[in-house]
Amino acid sequence: MKFSELADGLEKLESTSSRLEMTDLLADVFKKAKPNELQKIIYLMQGRISPSFSNLEIGMGEKMVQQALATASGFDKSKIEKLYTEKGDLGLVAMEVMGARKQSALARRELSVDDVFENFVKIATASGSGSQELKKSLLIDLFNSSSHTEAKWIARIPTGSLRLGVGEPTVMDALSVAKKGDKSLRYQLEVAFNQSSDLGSLAKAFMEKGAKGIENYSVNPGFPIRAALGERAGTIEEIMTRMKTPLVEPKMDGFRQQIHKKGNEVTIYSRKQENMTHMFPEVVASVKKLKAKNIILDAEALGYNPKTGSYLSFQETIKRKRKYGVTAKAEEMPLHVMCFDIMYLDGKDLTGKRFSERRKILEKQILKNDPVLTVIDQQEFRDAKSLEKYFKGIVKKNIEGIMAKNPELEYKAGKRGFHWMKYKPSYDASKMRDTVDAVIIGYYKGRGKRTGFGFGGLLTAVYDEDDDEFKSIARVGSGFTEEQMSEFSNALSKIKAAKKPARVDSDMEPDVWVTPKYVVTLIADEISLSPVHTAGRARGKGYALRFPRIVSGGVRIDKNPEQATTVSEIMRMYKQQHTK
Ligand code: ATP
Repeated sequence: MKFSELADGLEKLESTSSRLEMTDLLADVFKKAKPNELQKIIYLMQGRISPSFSNLEIGMGEKMVQQALATASGFDKSKIEKLYTEKGDLGLVAMEVMGARKQSALARRELSVDDVFENFVKIATASGSGSQELKKSLLIDLFNSSSHTEAKWIARIPTGSLRLGVGEPTVMDALSVAKKGDKSLRYQLEVAFNQSSDLGSLAKAFMEKGAKGIENYSVNPGFPIRAALGERAGTIEEIMTRMKTPLVEPKMDGFRQQIHKKGNEVTIYSRKQENMTHMFPEVVASVKKLKAKNIILDAEALGYNPKTGSYLSFQETIKRKRKYGVTAKAEEMPLHVMCFDIMYLDGKDLTGKRFSERRKILEKQILKNDPVLTVIDQQEFRDAKSLEKYFKGIVKKNIEGIMAKNPELEYKAGKRGFHWMKYKPSYDASKMRDTVDAVIIGYYKGRGKRTGFGFGGLLTAVYDEDDDEFKSIARVGSGFTEEQMSEFSNALSKIKAAKKPARVDSDMEPDVWVTPKYVVTLIADEISLSPVHTAGRARGKGYALRFPRIVSGGVRIDKNPEQATTVSEIMRMYKQQHTK
């Protein structure tokens, strides 16, 4: 496939403002590609050359892209920098300077998708002395051969985002449409994706052999499983009614880890399926001691204060995220990793087994007295009264809440449901029992004192799983620290969108639209009905957060926009408010 065909398709995708049209446009692109090209296209569309859980990244800074553009176009570096400051998007800069380039276009070779992919692979794998120059020349080579539209997309790839705002559910819909003409195969795609997390290789197998080609996709060490998620319980009674004999665990406020051991190789994935292994050397060491050759565990990691033994908050634990000084941090803030599920053991996929059985297997695998790995406490309950008592004890200990699990059910990869129910104490004076994780879809410029920051508030949305769209729920105007204001202003100005992104559904108009990327945690006085917002809108009224404010900690770096609170969760939270 010619790269120009892909670039044309992406142009159309960028200019549509309808999510439905987006699916058809994507399906058109997919149909033109051969299966192995399609795999590459899917990675390139995410600004990558491999699935998101792999560590192989293109890894090229904005500065280097600017330098390559200067050489390829014959424009001064300072001119390129100036244009970038004006436009805030290297793609638009590339389009302008390559369109007006001073060299002749006659000697250009026609680029294929394979050519572009291959150069980016070489860029990603170049190392050692002279590698920076090599990377730059590989990018210059691509620019030299590209038209101004192709240059726009090539410039966007190495910086990690094509700014299309195409989500995985839309890609799966489009794959089904490309193969079958309708969305009927989306469910099968989703099941396979939930177990393997590699949309590129899945797309290839699917285009080659249709639904049959992905039937055998199953759980495997080295491929992160999409996390199982819980519903919010309104009351203790609700847990008992739905589960009869729940297995109940403390809900710890730590950092979710999915731990994979494949032979002697250990990999740790985050809630977003990112490879976080480098942050946790002591976890790797403990996992290596396990008897099992191959294993996949679900766990919560918590940093603790070695002097007092008390656990630290998620915000503190996450400080480990920095790449350097991990060893020093590991001593200063040791970790406990509390395992709560097992999905794979020595050649066997355990996700289909009942939870009570999985728990027994888990207990046998984790070594007693390991300083890092433990199995989380668990108790079975048969009546609401004793569960209520247990919950009160948990609250007294300052633990976030409880997680009740249905003993009869399998591991629900990528699904939020009543297999797990979380229950937390009420939040401050709010009527809401829990916070909402909302996606930033736009921002307001500051007025008065805030003008200096160029930031005066956020327009936020929740995720509608059925439509794969972000629907507005709150304008957040207060409660920001000065530091947050300048951070938001910086980060958001980099993802400005010229118009409302296709997957955003909002009647409210912010001063600046942004590509949905960041998730922030909000609390409010309550959830109300309002004609202003589009979340769950029916008969002219949607759900809105009343007096929303940002919870300390701000951005949830462990969540993608599609992992934000969903419209159906908001609907349940609204009902729970009125049944208390
Ligand atoms: P989500 O429900 O979307 O994962 P969240 O963090 O917003 O995200 P929470 O209610 O805060 O929702 O908690 C769910 C998270 O709690 C899990 O993803 C996991 O990291 C953590 N957790 C803590 N203890 C447990 C446990 N015993 N079993 C399962 N998850 C637990």
